[in-house]
Amino acid sequence: MTPMPLIFAATCDIAGKVRGKAFPADQLEKRLSRGVGWVPTNVQITCFDSIAESPFGSLGDLLLVPDPACEVKVAFGDGAAEHFMLGDIITLDGEPWAFCTRQILRDALDRLHGLSGARLFSAFEHEFQLKGTGLPNEGFGRNAFENQRALMETLMGALKAGGLTPDSIMKEYGPHQFEVVVAPEIGVASADAAVILRELTRSAARSAGEEATFAPILDTASVGNGVHIHLSFQDDAGTPLTHDENGPCGMSDLTDAFAAGVLRYLPNILALTAPSVVSYERLTPHRWSAAYNNLGFRDREASLRVCPVTARDPAAIARQFNIEYRAADAAACPHLALAAVVHAGCQGIEDGLRAPAATEDDLSLLSPDELAARGFTRLPETLEAALDAFAGNDTVTGWFPATFAEVYRAHKDAEIAHLAEMDTDAKCAAYAETY
Ligand code: GLU
Ligand code: MG
Repeated sequence: MTPMPLIFAATCDIAGKVRGKAFPADQLEKRLSRGVGWVPTNVQITCFDSIAESPFGSLGDLLLVPDPACEVKVAFGDGAAEHFMLGDIITLDGEPWAFCTRQILRDALDRLHGLSGARLFSAFEHEFQLKGTGLPNEGFGRNAFENQRALMETLMGALKAGGLTPDSIMKEYGPHQFEVVVAPEIGVASADAAVILRELTRSAARSAGEEATFAPILDTASVGNGVHIHLSFQDDAGTPLTHDENGPCGMSDLTDAFAAGVLRYLPNILALTAPSVVSYERLTPHRWSAAYNNLGFRDREASLRVCPVTARDPAAIARQFNIEYRAADAAACPHLALAAVVHAGCQGIEDGLRAPAATEDDLSLLSPDELAARGFTRLPETLEAALDAFAGNDTVTGWFPATFAEVYRAHKDAEIAHLAEMDTDAKCAAYAETY
């Protein structure tokens, strides 16, 4: 008997989980057009494997079609190569399925392009922790990094083999916490890259006898694991559109309006970008995450940050200039999170909004009235409040396919119910087992 090489066709679903089916590698040509069978109700499998109330019940059939642009084949150690392809979910008639997360993102990107001629260039910066204990007192430390050098080098090699462009990797501030950065990509590819990065990080850790988790927070006495989404724009010819040296904080009119839309609708989209129960333990003041809908100029306590550029000449500055959405975590499907941010930005462009001035002070010292007077709000402090803010805004739910908001709510209600009897530590531990 010789083992049969298999390719895993995968989707990152609304739970942010990567699920799918494997087929023999020699069937690839057929599978690229006909896919593998898929089931609508799979969309209601929560991150804890409970099945939420589903409008589809046991009915219906779909196809999950692998995309050759998203093929990853990486061997760790002496094991068989991991081989997977992200794909699209379509109906039996060949139409995009409404709940396919890649399609939801494509629709958002098409809206942006139609409104402004801009194509999105983005990158997801990830923090993760290794479970178990690492060296103490090693925030940004060399010793802890060297202790894991073999894993770091395996991971960066795997990312390159997986088609990503590794940028940098470091020992982050938190216990046994690391941060990995890859180069930006155009359009849907950056969200695909985020999925690939998470999968390969877990695999690389396993191959080193470690276990990696991207859960939003492991211990409320410490920092969380953020996902920071860096955003910039280009026209079809690749000319950067993000920067204007005379604009507020260096933002072009396009960036300004986009940022304004993101900040206006941040409370409403948070349920999609920070979608776990414990996400809200991370999104608290003084954790360098995001607690208010404020713009920061190089300020890491802002939910939307104008990033520094290291370039010196004007053309390079224009290319490097970007804004960073910090209110996301890896419980979110990258495609859904990015779609929500892009739609919010599009709404800002459509409505001609202007971003508020960047904050430089500690907003947690202001009363709710003082905050409101300056046009800011404390972001929702629980997943339930965030879900209410999403479902309660018709503009925001209108950006998504019909019935998406109800299906998403039912999905998240089942996730919340699974945790109902647990204290905060147990909830954090439950998420550490699934992300
Ligand atoms: N760990 C922080 C977060 O939860 C981010 C720290 C940083 O600025 O990199 O988002
Ligand atoms: Mg970081």
